[in-house]
Amino acid sequence: MNGITVKRVDKPTYEIDEEILEQFNEQQNIFARVIYDNDAPFFYKCNYINSEKLIEEEKKGYSRIELARAVSSWTLFNHFSDAFCDQKLDNEITKLSEPQLAKYDIEDMTPFTKEVKETALKFGASLVGICELNHKWIYKNNRHGESINIPQEYTHAIVMAIEMNEDIFNSPDWSAVTSGGISYSQMAFVSASLAQFIRHLGYKAISAGNDTALNIPLAIDAGLGELGRNGMLVTPELGSKVRICKVFTDIPLEVDKSIDFSLQNFCKKCKLCIEACEVSAISCDADPSYKIKSVSNNPGIKRWVVDVEKCYMFWIENGGGCSSCIAACPFSK
Ligand code: SF4
Ligand code: SF4
Repeated sequence: MNGITVKRVDKPTYEIDEEILEQFNEQQNIFARVIYDNDAPFFYKCNYINSEKLIEEEKKGYSRIELARAVSSWTLFNHFSDAFCDQKLDNEITKLSEPQLAKYDIEDMTPFTKEVKETALKFGASLVGICELNHKWIYKNNRHGESINIPQEYTHAIVMAIEMNEDIFNSPDWSAVTSGGISYSQMAFVSASLAQFIRHLGYKAISAGNDTALNIPLAIDAGLGELGRNGMLVTPELGSKVRICKVFTDIPLEVDKSIDFSLQNFCKKCKLCIEACEVSAISCDADPSYKIKSVSNNPGIKRWVVDVEKCYMFWIENGGGCSSCIAACPFSK
């Protein structure tokens, strides 16, 4: 957005209470709770459950075609974390069996880091940043309750933001859901290919979308943006109109400093995301705090908390999803 000053800072602008913050259990994520939390009002309620009713109402943006487009846009994302893991790609089709090359020797980290970032951009990332991997952001368990172990040798995260297309501004209709689905599915290509690029240089890499670790703090650590009142990453270039993916690696890389563009001061006055939310899921509090609304909010992080249960209930009512707080953010325009 024009008129903002972006400063590089020595530490990220989020505040955490180290005594409280623990690795998040992905089973507490709202989408996991749909399957595993039988006390939740949305237990086994698929977000598309109301779509037939909405099609019958013949509202603009809620046609049978739009629904098929929205659901299909998520196809690659829904399958990629397993499909493109390093074990599955360790085969003769994807490996360079001949010639057998030695591990790439990194003589100077500055140009090498630039090459890695350029590769991410060539593969389709809109923004890319690098941070040391804070293992606190790794999920304790995945959404099925299996523990996650990323060994300490994975020292860095390459964090990538993928821009959503302009249909996001039609939110909450199904074309905006499609915009999200396309970006998520693009992650499959971008992060899996970048991980494979690193493996072809003889180093280790794990690619991930929303799985494995919390994306927003990683993106903030990597200097891509700050945490907004809407509970999302807000970047100076693209606002919240991005989806995030990452690659964990043992490759030595130069890291980016976090950024500060006084977002929290801006959010104190702006409040456009509050107005855009049809179910008042976004906090109206004057200041961020350590309050949480449900088990789906990770405690120990100072922020304006989003009532993600209310949010998901609206997704169900709306027959798919919603991105109105992303579209409303002036940084997204
Ligand atoms: S996604 Fe929609 S329902 Fe959820 S918080 Fe944002 S505006 Fe509200
Ligand atoms: S819409 Fe305004 S208040 Fe909400 S996240 Fe964006 S800048 Fe902050």
